[in-house]
Amino acid sequence: MTDAVAASTRVIALLGDPVSHSLSPRIQNAAIRALCLDGVYVALRCSGDDLPALLRALARAGGGGNVTVPHKEAAFRAVDRRTTAAEATGAVNTFWLADGEVWGDNTDVEGFTAAVRTLLGRSAAGGRVLLLGAGGAARAAVHALASHAATQIVIVNRTQVRARELADRFGRGRTRIDVVASMDEVGAGAFDLVVNATSLGLHAGDPLPLDPAAAPPIEAALDLVYGRAGETRWVRAMTAHGIPTADGTEMLLRQGAAAFRRWWSVDPPLDAMRAALREMPVS
Ligand code: NAP
Repeated sequence: MTDAVAASTRVIALLGDPVSHSLSPRIQNAAIRALCLDGVYVALRCSGDDLPALLRALARAGGGGNVTVPHKEAAFRAVDRRTTAAEATGAVNTFWLADGEVWGDNTDVEGFTAAVRTLLGRSAAGGRVLLLGAGGAARAAVHALASHAATQIVIVNRTQVRARELADRFGRGRTRIDVVASMDEVGAGAFDLVVNATSLGLHAGDPLPLDPAAAPPIEAALDLVYGRAGETRWVRAMTAHGIPTADGTEMLLRQGAAAFRRWWSVDPPLDAMRAALREMPVS
């Protein structure tokens, strides 16, 4: 954001409901400021009925934006063109205008991929991954893991039919995808990575998504839930068991960085974005 909002200022908006607790305005405005770009990032709470027209008008007026719960599937339908990640996951979290057409991407895929690489020091290629959850974040994770040729993904989800739908959607490539009813059926084989893609941990008093004492051998764990100073209760519990574990902060940062690149066609200032994230209180 430059010192003043002017007639030339591009408006980038987060569309969702709710949006008031989102960290994206702080991260994105820090990045805009760091590069002295003429733009501003705002959060707009909107209904599903209003989403398609609002999204398209923002893009066509020279801006763009993000989309969050519960509108990512509606955004998928509202855009003219989609990236491979958006097509594969059926969800759009980032939109912009290019050559007169409204484009949509799902940068959670890129964010997840970067977070895995940061945690493991390598991609998931050739790895065995235990995935807890089968919602929107899990879908982005499965596409990312399959795109990077993970050998096997084992999905455990409270609602088994949802896990089966996920396996059916992505289960035709090189990556074998299995669904099990509970942790009891996972077996004792080692995993390169376990991912918490459930919403367990968002609320105080939630049970842990996986008890580390009952877990199979695991090289590292990634919690997509993010907490204060990079910690969640599960991160602390897994770390105490000697399992290197990260929260969802890096994924959040990297999906935002990927979105920034779509709107501004420049490399995102990761340090400024990271600093903004560190400075802000996480409730
Ligand atoms: P979602 O589509 O609503 O899926 C929620 C998942 O959590 C489902 O698998 C659901 O199981 C499971 N779940 C919810 N309550 C549960 C409970 N009491 N016991 C067991 N499982 C439960 O949500 P989402 O968009 O995938 O988001 C999931 C998590 O990822 C959220 O915490 C979100 O904040 C986080 N996330 C983080 C990032 C990031 O950048 N770090 C990005 C996206 C999402 P059922 O299918 O049985 O309902």
